[in-house]
Amino acid sequence: MPPAALEAFSAVLDAAGIIDGTAPEAGRYLHDWTGDYLGTALAVLRPRSVEEVQALVRICAEHRVPIVPQGGNTGLVAGATAGGPPSVVVVSLERLNRIREIDAANFTLRADAGAVLQTLKDAAESEDMLFPLALGAQGSCQIGGNVATNAGGINVLRYGMMRDLVLGLEAVMPDGSLWEGMTGLRKDNRGYDLKQLLIGSEGSLSIVTGVEVKLFPRPANLETAYLGVSSFADAMALSGMARSVCSDLLTAFEVIGSECIAFAALSNPETRVPLEGEWPVHVLMELGCSSAIDGRALLEALLGEAFEAGLLGDGTIAQSRAHARAFWAIREDLVEGQAKRGRHVRTDLSVRLSDVARMIEAARSYVLSSWPGWEPIAYGHAGDGNIHFNVMPPLALSTGEIREQGRDLLDGLYGIVRGFGGSFSAEHGVGRSRRAVYWQWLTPEQQKAVSAIKAVFDPLGIMNPGCLVVSD
Ligand SMILES: Cc1cc2nc3c(=O)[nH]c(=O)nc-3n(C[C@H](O)[C@H](O)[C@H](O)COP(=O)(O)OP(=O)(O)OC[C@H]3O[C@@H](n4cnc5c(N)ncnc54)[C@H](O)[C@@H]3O)c2cc1C
Repeated sequence: MPPAALEAFSAVLDAAGIIDGTAPEAGRYLHDWTGDYLGTALAVLRPRSVEEVQALVRICAEHRVPIVPQGGNTGLVAGATAGGPPSVVVVSLERLNRIREIDAANFTLRADAGAVLQTLKDAAESEDMLFPLALGAQGSCQIGGNVATNAGGINVLRYGMMRDLVLGLEAVMPDGSLWEGMTGLRKDNRGYDLKQLLIGSEGSLSIVTGVEVKLFPRPANLETAYLGVSSFADAMALSGMARSVCSDLLTAFEVIGSECIAFAALSNPETRVPLEGEWPVHVLMELGCSSAIDGRALLEALLGEAFEAGLLGDGTIAQSRAHARAFWAIREDLVEGQAKRGRHVRTDLSVRLSDVARMIEAARSYVLSSWPGWEPIAYGHAGDGNIHFNVMPPLALSTGEIREQGRDLLDGLYGIVRGFGGSFSAEHGVGRSRRAVYWQWLTPEQQKAVSAIKAVFDPLGIMNPGCLVVSD
């Protein structure tokens, strides 16, 4: 890094605000949650205010120092870690973390981008409102990171992804200027909607510093059921029935292939599946409503209808919030358990709802017939057509072999999903790990448009180079 840049950073930040990239304390900013990606950096910068972010970005622009914005570092596609010889500064938003305002009359909340998602949810709840974004990493990921990745999670079915939840943004542009777009307006049709371009841009266009989100009435009644069904096809038929019977009250519809339970148990040996007998596919569903509606009666009516139709094998309705939390813990633990098992092939696929079961079947047949010793598992947000179809390698393989063979296996899986007209990235984004496939799937016209947008916003190419856009 040019010594002048280092000197200028030090003049902006306090002593705790700058960490040398080779110092041991930099370590936690330089590897991702999975441990699969190791990054490098000249320094980690930790601004405390929007003005400090602006000053840092101006220095980076002047000295052409590339920036990797970082939130909670829970992303799964290597967007917040850059490998290779150290050339970037990581700008961590973790100290820019205030809840700025809750406006109960407007059902809105404004926060600094570094506010942790759970903190934001708790703040909304303290005012008897709901911020519905919910995902396994919510205790660590930041609202700015959620914006940058257009995060999804378990409640997309009813409330949508971040794109649907953001009302306004504040962002520092690559020349250090501030784009202020937090108006609180729910309808505003004045020309281009810049915030929508920044949502999902994974730090490649700006550093998000402030976020204004929609809040919702907090459902007084939450009804949660853990169900056993015979197949993914039955699970998807049940999903359709649940939407018809429960209408917009349905908040979550998750599927878990029974082979995933071993991974939940790996993370939490106390795991107990609340079903009688063995069922190939488990369903975790939840509906939420005000106290004026009898959610339990609605859920029981749905399960009765599903049983009559032969779609439902067995099931348990949670009798308390603690009981429901135990159901959800199975879903969360199975993700942690896979990380514990070690490096594996991880996907985040989406297809149309009507193709989910067939896609899983095709992917499973492909792995079982072409990749002896590899174990497929499938789970995910089936109500949104989003399946994590992951494949565990044989234990004897080295990390290098898993990486190499995994790449070929993944190509095959992506080919299947493409055949269904689906997406290789339903909610995790593109980052560095999926950049090549992203680019491959774009038409030349789309590539041109993406490159042009990048060039207009970031003409110096200093924003998260190597992430999302192929420009080198
Ligand atoms: C256990 C687990 C479960 C998960 N479940 C889900 C899930 O259900 N749904 C889902 O969508 N994702 C899920 N994820 C992925 C991840 O949590 C989300 O992508 C999350 O939104 C990332 O937020 P973060 O703050 O950790 O961002 P980071 O990982 O720090 O960064 C992610 C990307 O955003 C950019 N970025 C971060 N902050 C900013 C900012 N302020 N301004 C500009 N760019 C920024 C980074 O440069 C990077 O490209 C899960 C991850 C884990 C570990």
